[in-house]
Amino acid sequence: MKAAMLYEYDPAVNVNLKIEDVRVPEITAPDEVIVRVGAAGLCRTDLHIIEGVWKPTMDPNGTLLPYIMGHENAGWVEDVGSSVKSVKPGDAVICHPFRSCGVCLNCRHGEDMYCDNGAFPGLGMNGGFAEYFVTSERSLIKLKKGIMPIEVAPLADAGITAYRAAKRAARLLRPGSYCVLVGIGGLGHIALQSLHAISGCRIIAVDREPAAQKLAKDLGADFVLDGGPNVIEEVKEITGGGAHVVIDFVGELGVENICWKMARKGGQMFVVGYGGKIEVPTVHLVIEEINIGGSLVGNYTELVELMELNADGKVKMHYTEYNLANINTAIDDFKHRRFTGRGVIVP
Ligand SMILES: [Zn+2]
Ligand SMILES: [Zn+2]
Repeated sequence: MKAAMLYEYDPAVNVNLKIEDVRVPEITAPDEVIVRVGAAGLCRTDLHIIEGVWKPTMDPNGTLLPYIMGHENAGWVEDVGSSVKSVKPGDAVICHPFRSCGVCLNCRHGEDMYCDNGAFPGLGMNGGFAEYFVTSERSLIKLKKGIMPIEVAPLADAGITAYRAAKRAARLLRPGSYCVLVGIGGLGHIALQSLHAISGCRIIAVDREPAAQKLAKDLGADFVLDGGPNVIEEVKEITGGGAHVVIDFVGELGVENICWKMARKGGQMFVVGYGGKIEVPTVHLVIEEINIGGSLVGNYTELVELMELNADGKVKMHYTEYNLANINTAIDDFKHRRFTGRGVIVP
């Protein structure tokens, strides 16, 4: 099968993935499923993997490469292990990105991402930038009739990550409250739609790119800001002192230290994008009583909920399609933000 192999790290992300012919994966455990990839979302995490951000934790000895990235996958079941009952060959599925074990206490609490024995296809092991990849039955959600894998693949990670943050935010937001979304890319535009669907809050979208600002307007953001040097004051002006919740989908390049300043007294900042470092005077945390915390992907049931919102037309993924052979163009376009929404790779 054709697959895009990562052979080396490069902080500047100037390396090319190599398109090669490799062996089709085989089932090695009873609960495994081989999925024929319909589409795989291209994620900022893929750029971070190439940059080497994950090398210290995932590849400390430098022996992991080459492998196939791609963790936002949807497609069709090709083959199933001997114990698989819930899907059969031909079924269209979206794949929760994490292969959680199902038996550890964290799994039993429903928090797949906290699983003690999990594995993440596409991060340190072969994923979906290929014609086929292997995951487990537990990770799969069947697509409703009429929904094509390409329309939903990035919901598998970008989507649930945004949805989980939006859902946590919604618990803190009443009608009339303000939520700032910083970065209206692949995740931000899903969070915007999710918040509209599950919360009565007012949404302030912040992005420097005109195309992203337009997308935010089209999706019904109440306010759209360009992220200029006065953005903190602009948010305070609109909100009367600061937002109730700020969700940071960038998390680097200095944005992370603008975001917490937009929160009002008792407000919350959720960190979703990563790579930077937050520095907050402790006195500010105390006087303003703000909370800062991360949000990690999402669990299986959150992906189910998101797929329901998608089926009802309330949350749609905006995407640009690239053939697997052109994955390096997709990566370059992503780096330079030449498309809005998500880049999607089709083998
Ligand atoms: Zn992702
Ligand atoms: Zn587990």
